[in-house]
Amino acid sequence: MGYYLYVTADLENLTNFQPNGGVDDPNFTYYFKLKCGNCGTVTEKATCVSLNETGPQSKKCKVCEREGTVTMFPGKGKPLTAEISEKGRY
Ligand SMILES: [Zn+2]
Repeated sequence: MGYYLYVTADLENLTNFQPNGGVDDPNFTYYFKLKCGNCGTVTEKATCVSLNETGPQSKKCKVCEREGTVTMFPGKGKPLTAEISEKGRY
């Protein structure tokens, strides 16, 4: 089972919202705040993951020490366009 990252934004002056180099730019780093599925603790610091680290990246909860992994899947990204945004999609 995978999780998708959905981003929504108010695109008043933008027509195309995506990282420099496109959504599958391997050098673009995404920052996530992760919530522990066990104790519900949200990480204080955003965890950075990028598409050039394709293997599962192990993250450990500081509170209950439960380990979780983040795996990035290149090629799944799409730029957020104004058209999609207007439809209330994200
Ligand atoms: Zn935890």
